[in-house]
Amino acid sequence: MRDRERDRDSDLDLEFDVAELRKVELHLHHEGAAPPEFIRRIAQEKRIDLGKVFDARGNYAYTDFVDFLRVYEAATEVLKTPEDYARLTTAVLEQSAENGVIYSETFLSPDFCGGSDVGAWKEYLHAIREAADAAERNMGIVLRGVITCIRHFGPDKARATAACAAETAGDWIVGFGIAGDEAKGKPKDFSYAFDMAREAGLHLTAHAGEWGGPQSVRDAINDLGVSRIGHGVRAIEDLALVDQLAESGVVLEVCPGSNVALRVYPDIARHPIQMLRERGVKVTVSTDDPPFFHTTMNREYEALRTTFSWDREVFAEIARNSLDAAFCDADTKAKLAKRLEETPA
Ligand SMILES: [Zn+2]
Repeated sequence: MRDRERDRDSDLDLEFDVAELRKVELHLHHEGAAPPEFIRRIAQEKRIDLGKVFDARGNYAYTDFVDFLRVYEAATEVLKTPEDYARLTTAVLEQSAENGVIYSETFLSPDFCGGSDVGAWKEYLHAIREAADAAERNMGIVLRGVITCIRHFGPDKARATAACAAETAGDWIVGFGIAGDEAKGKPKDFSYAFDMAREAGLHLTAHAGEWGGPQSVRDAINDLGVSRIGHGVRAIEDLALVDQLAESGVVLEVCPGSNVALRVYPDIARHPIQMLRERGVKVTVSTDDPPFFHTTMNREYEALRTTFSWDREVFAEIARNSLDAAFCDADTKAKLAKRLEETPA
């Protein structure tokens, strides 16, 4: 392996500031990226008592996965209007831009934005896009939307969500996916919703192989026809599947800090991202719900550099993988590719 040889040669240059690297992020939940101070401000304005959501230092506080879901829901419950989502968009993009992200895809759920009513969803989307356009002008960060249905809401709700996706598919809503509780239902229950999205021209991704094992990854690929998998890291438990991912070029949206925070893996050293990469799988790096997992893109990069001795070359490969797998149009990609090349050497 080339990387091992380089390690042995110990000529790796790891003396660089990860904050300087330009980044592409593919796996980010819009509400899950809400900074805690933003949620506190909205709650205060609306005089909503959030209960036990923050710790003494003002960070999101939870004890385990179930408690995480409670805190996540309580925090995001304050976001009720298109105006709230416009402000959320600005707050999220400020954080991303501060971390060197030049392109980001965010998961948006019409279920939370107008109850999957197409007319209401369009109002939310309009507000989000206006804020995103302003952020692009002011901060240079480009945002696109991937609509997600929520697995534990069931296939009927997913169809309503897919209808919203089909109605608004275009140059800004570029993808469709599924998030939520991986233990509920099977991917094939959602194939109708995914077919609708595909017919509308949307690219497809699905959360799998985070809580579910390798079979969940296989099912997402075979039954939903996705080109990317959200997480997908537990594919490592089946090397035949790993080889299949490498050969087919299915891209994994890997979120190491999220997996460690939710204890899918005990620590970053035992996370399979490096093993997957060495076996030829196209991996990318994202933050999932960054403030909930006390992470940022810079922190993810820092942890990967420290743990796996990733140098600039590896991070450049990660950024290229991410941009190749992005769902935006070719013109946008070409512009972004130029900006990636400008990354300080
Ligand atoms: Zn996710």
